[in-house]
Order: sequence, then structure tokens, then C-alpha cells
Amino acid sequence: MTDAVSSDLTTRLGELARIMPAASPVVSVYLNTRWADEHQRERVRLFLKNELRLARAAGPGPALASDLDWIEAEGTRLVDQAEVPEADGVVLFACHALGLRERHTLRVSVGDAFVVDEVPHLRPLAAVLEGAPAALVVFVDTESARLIPLDPGGEEIRLEHEVPGHHRRGGWAQLAQSRYQRHIQVHRDQHLEAVAEALGRLTGSDPPRRVVLAGEGRLVGLLRQRLPAEATERVAATIPGARYEPADVLARRAAEALARADAEAATAAVDAVLTEAAKGGRAVAGLAATLEAVDRGAVHVLYLQRGFREAGRRCGGCGALQPEAAGPRCRRCGEATRPAELGEAAVDRVIATGGRVETVVAHEGLTRAGGLAARLRYPL
Ligand SMILES: [Zn+2]
Repeated sequence: MTDAVSSDLTTRLGELARIMPAASPVVSVYLNTRWADEHQRERVRLFLKNELRLARAAGPGPALASDLDWIEAEGTRLVDQAEVPEADGVVLFACHALGLRERHTLRVSVGDAFVVDEVPHLRPLAAVLEGAPAALVVFVDTESARLIPLDPGGEEIRLEHEVPGHHRRGGWAQLAQSRYQRHIQVHRDQHLEAVAEALGRLTGSDPPRRVVLAGEGRLVGLLRQRLPAEATERVAATIPGARYEPADVLARRAAEALARADAEAATAAVDAVLTEAAKGGRAVAGLAATLEAVDRGAVHVLYLQRGFREAGRRCGGCGALQPEAAGPRCRRCGEATRPAELGEAAVDRVIATGGRVETVVAHEGLTRAGGLAARLRYPL
């Protein structure tokens, strides 16, 4: 059994997506392991117990039965936190025929799921990995800056810049007001330059982070002008913010702004794909055309309406997907087909061929197109 680290997980996801149906089914189990209280922990324990009972009641063969035993032992240790107590979510895959027994720990919680199918159930894992890359909130005022990582456990960094003369308010300071102002401005500019430079170095590091600028609008604008080009590209949103606000308040505001920006970007991307599909370019829309593109390995990005489900069939020979109406024989190779949920099956195939999947929450045009569209590597 392997315990994969997240950087390898994208690679592993691609390998799992290429698994073809074997002599015994694959058990996929997702468990949320971050509980606020004992009540929530008990709920996960009950979920696992019920699902195992149902799977055993269905009369599994010896191969699947041994997988279920392993899942039970693993799952119990996880719920008891005898293993990886720091994980927020855990995924288990087991298939006796493939010699597959693996556990992946996640730093985000997942919905509980228990699926016995011909191939691994990968949609929740793909959704986790498609999630936005790490982001950094940069709050700035005239004399300080705060860098707040959005990833859980990230520590706030404060950059302070003492402005000379700022606290002196004697008679001479009044008289020297204009000089004082210029002084402040010079220091403010130096401060912003320093923040911009620090930010340029940070965002250039690995892994690339998105940036949310926070603070008073005019000052944020001045900082933005000073950012190096590669840091400017990473600025995904701008939010208001005040020096006295706690880091978690700024972080939450930034996360909301990023979610809005992502939704807008997704809408624009789907608009563009639907327009291009209508013109017959490097895009397709609708179930039949998208399945065709999926089968040919031509999908660069698959756009799938959230909750998309469609009963269809998968070929046991070549793995091709087709609508229910196509019947029990593969249109490509003539082998027997078996029932499959096409949303899940398309996600697997796209990932297996090196493509990417984006889940779209709400898009009228995509709904009209049947909930499925894709940007292609080349026109079909
Ligand atoms: Zn076939």
C-alpha cells in the first residue's frame, strides 16, 4: 500500500484513469476525516459500516470480499485516527484482480462516498485536484504589509516599515508640513517598492501562487503599478481591507473574491467554447459530439455541468463510450458494451488521455447544450 503525497497525486490520477475493467471490480472509498465533534466521527463510522453491509449483501465473489475486508480494516483505523490523524480526507482504492490497494491522504475534506464499479471512481479526486492553486493575500497600507497564505496552516508574515517623523507633531512639524509630506511620500514609495520587490520574489517561487491584493483602493493601485510583470499576472482579485482586521477575516474575504473570479473565468471559458463549437472549430458541445471527442482522445478541457449524470454504455474491448441507444455492441470495435454512467466515464477517459476537467456550477448555454462541452486539441 502506498501513501501518496499530493504532488504525485495528479500523476497517479492519470494512471488510475487508464485502468481498464479487470476480473474483479474496484472499490473506491472517500472518507471525510476532519470532524468538529464525536457526532461527526460517528456519522462517518456508520456510513462505512452501512456501505460495507450493503456491498456484502450483494453477494460478492472471494476477490471483492477480500477487498471489502481490507477497506473495513483500513477505514476503521482511519476513523479511530490510528493512522494519518492529520488528514482532512482520505481516499482508498482496492481491486484484488489488479493487486490494487492504496490510500491517499488529502489536505481538504471530501464528501463520503463508497463505490463498487469496474473502474476507480475518480470524479471527487479530480475535483479536489482541479481546485485552485495556493493563493497569497497581500495587505498593504502606508507603512506595513501583511502576507497571508490562503492554504490551511500557512503563517502570516508581517513586513513593517517605520516612517521617520511620523509620530512627531510639534510646532515645527506644523511649519514643516510640506517638507514632512514629501518625506512621508518618499518613504511610502520606498515601502511600496520594497513590498513589490518582496512579492515579485515570492510569486516567482515554486509552486506559483495566485495573489489577492488587499487594502485601501488608491494605495493598492500604487502597489500594483510597481509589481514586476510576472507578479502582476498572478493578481487574481483585489479586496478592501484594514490594518486592524484579523488575518482570517481577510483570508475569508479573499477566498470569496477568488471564487467569484473563478466563476467569471469559467463562464467566459464556456461561452468561448460554445461559440467555437457552433462555428465548427476546436470545440464541441452536446453529448454525442463530446463523447466522440473523448473517445478519440482529442479533449484538452472537458466542461461538465455539476451533477451531470447520463446512463450510457462503455465498451469492454476498446473502452469507447456511447449513448444507451447505441445498443449492446461497440460502434467502433464490435465488442460487448456494459452500462456506465457517462459523466464519470468521460472524466476518467479525459484524465487518462492527459486532458483536464472543469466542473461548471451554473451556465445556461451549457445546460441547453446538454451539460457537456469540450475544448479540443485539434478540430475533429
Ligand atoms: Zn469498442
